[in-house]
Amino acid sequence: MIYKSRIGFRFSDEFLDVFQTFNCLGDTENPEKFGACTVQDAKEAIELAKSAHQSYKRSSVEFRARFLTEIANELDQQRDSLVEMFCKESSLPAARGNSELDRTLLQLRSYGAYLLNPSWNRPLVSEIPNSPFKVSTELRAIGPVAVFGSSNFPFAYSTAGGDTASALAAGCPVIVKAHSMHAGTSYLVAECILKVAQEVGAPDGVFSHLLDNGFDIGEELVTNESIKAVGFTGSIKGGRALMDLAAKRLGPIPVFAEMGSVNPVVFFNNELEKNSELWIDKFTKSIATDAGQFCTKPGLLFVPNSEIGTSFLKDLSYQLLVTEPQCHLHPKLFNSFKEQVDETFKWIPTKLPYHSQPVLRIVEAKLFLNDYNYYEEYFGPQAIAVQYESVEQLFIFLEKLQGQLTATFIGTKSEIEEQETIVEVLKEKAGRIIINGVPTGVTVCDSMVHGGVYPAASDSRFTAVGTQSIYRFLRPIAVQQI
Ligand code: NAP
Repeated sequence: MIYKSRIGFRFSDEFLDVFQTFNCLGDTENPEKFGACTVQDAKEAIELAKSAHQSYKRSSVEFRARFLTEIANELDQQRDSLVEMFCKESSLPAARGNSELDRTLLQLRSYGAYLLNPSWNRPLVSEIPNSPFKVSTELRAIGPVAVFGSSNFPFAYSTAGGDTASALAAGCPVIVKAHSMHAGTSYLVAECILKVAQEVGAPDGVFSHLLDNGFDIGEELVTNESIKAVGFTGSIKGGRALMDLAAKRLGPIPVFAEMGSVNPVVFFNNELEKNSELWIDKFTKSIATDAGQFCTKPGLLFVPNSEIGTSFLKDLSYQLLVTEPQCHLHPKLFNSFKEQVDETFKWIPTKLPYHSQPVLRIVEAKLFLNDYNYYEEYFGPQAIAVQYESVEQLFIFLEKLQGQLTATFIGTKSEIEEQETIVEVLKEKAGRIIINGVPTGVTVCDSMVHGGVYPAASDSRFTAVGTQSIYRFLRPIAVQQI
């Protein structure tokens, strides 16, 4: 059997190529075969989405809340088969699959519930002095949205993930380009969404699912004038390519891209004196878990050049080196991580294929300042540490950082107060500031910001996680009347 794309409620007729996903733990291809769809299929899915938009944008908030909740319920019903496929395609453990699925259900349910709050659409009415007019604003669904999920979150940032949930909540039809590394998980999730869409009476075209192992379908989605916004989670290279394509259109559209980040962490002496062991344990897990393939993995540590700073680094290095080698999601990600590490550091071989040894790379301050390789994201279980001589030198290091998803400050209450200017520099750079915690683990809540300054995200004014992500897919209009 060859799994095919879904053009709304129907299956695609043909396919151009057949591809399979890979299991790194077993060092083997998965048996399921997927048919890469044609550009014509993508065009038909877009036309169908355009026509579904006419009715879906006018659907009631109660309808959309029910739609999202029922999708969550259906995914929960299919949990066992979904998690089984998730593990086969990602080599991540079932516990991670289950917790990521729970988070996906929470997103769907909480975005649905948010719509039932009477002020969710931010109503504003202005009485104009000396004028018979009043001006009110309303929010309208922007139109069909193309969604590109990431390799490392097959549930939470993919087919029924945050971008899809927020676009459907806003009243926009969605077309998902499945991630080629977890096409089977994506397919099963898409089936759940389409089953529910039919059951609740959503219009045909409210959701389509396109399978492809190349970039043609993605490019068609971003350049087709009927697509009105893009949600993307992935690499800086991929996100930037899509942003450039969208900007060159006759009618440019927003690409809400969440991309790479090194997630700097600054440590201060007094907190390390008090709680060194706690931070060693927390950062070992945060750097190594699931092969460090998290966009919020702490990748760059700034530690004081002091006795406690040096001993902290020595112990953290040791803890990472005695952590089990970690399996990567896919051979492509393993190979590009290995190549990137080899360019600047010495690769540590392990006995198992596609596994990497968790490691801390300690770099001398004078080398660090002059080499941008140390400021790059390494998508694996590695962090780079540098010791700063003074707060003045720390400033110089931090000023060179690009935009970030997160920045973390580890210090006592008085260190936080004394180093207010450091916190201020971190706020200039990042979308989320963590005080005395680790950056991995993004909570789904109303106040969350998962985004940041470019290149961490394409537009620092928006978030990809939490209920406020819905506003990315709405546009305000003013209605002026007597
Ligand atoms: P990726 O390689 O950029 O791929 C993401 C999706 O975009 C895939 O479906 C891919 O297609 C497609 N794509 C990539 N380049 C394209 C192009 N030029 N034209 C059309 N489509 C294109 O990302 P990834 O596989 O997830 O790689 C991991 C990276 O994602 C890391 O850097 C990590 O930090 C980042 N990430 C960021 C976040 C965040 O929230 N900011 C979360 C997770 C991961 P194929 O399926 O055909 O490859």
